[in-house]
Amino acid sequence: MATNFPLDRFREIQTPFYYYDMELLKATLNEINVCCNGMPYKVHYAVKANANNNILQCIQSSGLGVDCVSGGEVEAAVKAGFDGKKIVFAGVGKTDSEINYALDTDILCFNVESVPELEVINELAARKGKIADVAFRVNPNVDAHTHKYITTGLNENKFGINIEQLPDVLNLAANLKHVHVIGLHFHIGSQITDMEPFVRLCEKINNLQAEVSKNGVELKIINVGGGLGVDYDNPDGNPIPVFKEYFEVFKKHLYLRDGQEVHFELGRSVVAQCGSLITRVTYVKTGTVKRFVITDAGMTDLIRPALYQAHHKIENISSDEKDTSVYDIVGPICESSDCFGENELLPITRRGDLLALRTAGAYGEIMASQYNLRRLPGVLYSE
Ligand SMILES: *Cc1c(COP(=O)(O)O)cnc(C)c1O
Repeated sequence: MATNFPLDRFREIQTPFYYYDMELLKATLNEINVCCNGMPYKVHYAVKANANNNILQCIQSSGLGVDCVSGGEVEAAVKAGFDGKKIVFAGVGKTDSEINYALDTDILCFNVESVPELEVINELAARKGKIADVAFRVNPNVDAHTHKYITTGLNENKFGINIEQLPDVLNLAANLKHVHVIGLHFHIGSQITDMEPFVRLCEKINNLQAEVSKNGVELKIINVGGGLGVDYDNPDGNPIPVFKEYFEVFKKHLYLRDGQEVHFELGRSVVAQCGSLITRVTYVKTGTVKRFVITDAGMTDLIRPALYQAHHKIENISSDEKDTSVYDIVGPICESSDCFGENELLPITRRGDLLALRTAGAYGEIMASQYNLRRLPGVLYSE
């Protein structure tokens, strides 16, 4: 399932561009469906990882739903063919117009992150004579052991409602006539490769369910969020994330009541490995000790290295040189964080060579900007 790069087709398009291996995306979606088969599990793809319309359509035809965090994402999902009942809508700052649009789209569920938001949804639904299904996002206080910018499940956090406040919030919701609580929602962070935090999450949910059921609240949906990580170091060795192991954790550790469904919101693990950023070498510059490869892609095309100190595997896909050298791979943007890798071992690299930055399908294209008045990266699909 390793990605093969069609170099002949790469001549058709100006670099830098994203290349998507649609076969790999389909195989990934198939694996998810196989793992969930026969279980009361629903996967909603987290659109924020990649909202490219072709990718969304492919995901839509596999049967997954979507998790959106803005009105724009709900619109993109509708445009890609998702039914309203396959859409959930999260986010700490939903505006009135976004809520109204989601109500008009008859989405499956609002993941509500605060009491004021709940009151506004109630009021806007009342004006339309509707009852909105909602799930409360709860901070389970589970440390995901990942980068601090992508850890979201700890107590003092802008996301969600603290666990201790949940009983009061449920009581309050019971008195609002235009919202109906159907579930609880959790999300502990991203790029989690160790299964232990997910086990902790299941335990927290089991305890919380015992508490909540004492208050007579019935929950149809337990939404455990996303966060499953991918192998950035070895994309060809592990092109499909460990979905089997991941879903096993929930099969084994999450105690479900009759009729309950588990919802998952996987983003990165669905789309990361199918995408690569393809860039051409503009210059190779020899300093006093270092050699720099300057690419035509920069942090405006792929910001993860500059933003999270992330590393994407870098390959020279056009060279057949046997000899190697060590390079720093840097972009053209006027920021010193615009660096894709230091001391990278590559075949002898020359001006005009093509490099692939692998595992760039998630939080890549969607985060591209026009800083320095650059053109947005192009896109090419395997089929
Ligand atoms: C970002 C996010 C996801 C997806 O996270 P991944 O790590 O990409 O799987 C899911 N749910 C919520 C609430 C999120 O904010």
